[in-house]
Amino acid sequence: METTFKNKVALVTGGASGIGRATALAFAKKGAKVAVVDWMENDEMVNLIKELGSEAIFIKCDVSKIDDVKAMVAQIIAAFGRLDYAFNNAGIEGASAATQDCSEENWDKTIGVNLKGVWLCMKYEIPEILKQGKGAIVNCASVAGMIGFAGLPAYVASKHGIVGLTKTTALECATQGIRVNVVCPGVIQTPMIDRLTGKTKEGIERFKGFEPIGRFGLPEEIANAVVWMCSDEASFVTGHVMAVDGGFTAQ
Ligand code: ADP
Repeated sequence: METTFKNKVALVTGGASGIGRATALAFAKKGAKVAVVDWMENDEMVNLIKELGSEAIFIKCDVSKIDDVKAMVAQIIAAFGRLDYAFNNAGIEGASAATQDCSEENWDKTIGVNLKGVWLCMKYEIPEILKQGKGAIVNCASVAGMIGFAGLPAYVASKHGIVGLTKTTALECATQGIRVNVVCPGVIQTPMIDRLTGKTKEGIERFKGFEPIGRFGLPEEIANAVVWMCSDEASFVTGHVMAVDGGFTAQ
């Protein structure tokens, strides 16, 4: 069983913060060369690239734009000569509004980044991973890819869409050496959750109440699941929807 990613290249979108950042670090710890992709370029990103070491690169890219995504994958090939693993994780939560109040702009933006972004990334990643004859993709959905949430129609639709897209791509790639899976995080301690709770005691308690395990998850706990799904230890796992959610969807 392969327990190292040495000489392999992993791409992580939405790598500037939270789950993406933790996963970039987890891939590097296993020996992979990492391409961190985000539309945000800030001091934290500079520090992350330093922390990842000499074999990591940052690529600025808006995953909802086809030309950006095409150029991003080409840049990885130019830098490393190959692509083996991808974690398509970039996402936005979208504005909260009931279905009848959701604006067209909110709908298009949320679906554009969360769902179209994952499709665009896979569109350009798959031909490169196929050249290696073996590899894996993990997409990031959410518990909102498994159950509904009142007031988040575009977000929930985008995350359910990622689950269906993942299953379909997994079937298409099943005999070609690429496994495709989707992780559904519960409430994870990330900047996104800080925005949703407003960092107020009341907000934090409300979101903790969703978690039977009694606490928020850590970004590293999602990263561990992603790296495992990419590893050879998961060699028979494809098209799988993995909740890493402290029991949220078991309720
Ligand atoms: P979480 O880690 O909980 O999924 P965050 O908001 O902390 O949520 O992280 C999401 C990441 O995705 C951020 O780094 C953000 O900049 C990135 N991101 C959001 N939209 C895009 C986009 N269109 N293209 C590239 N990266 C994006």
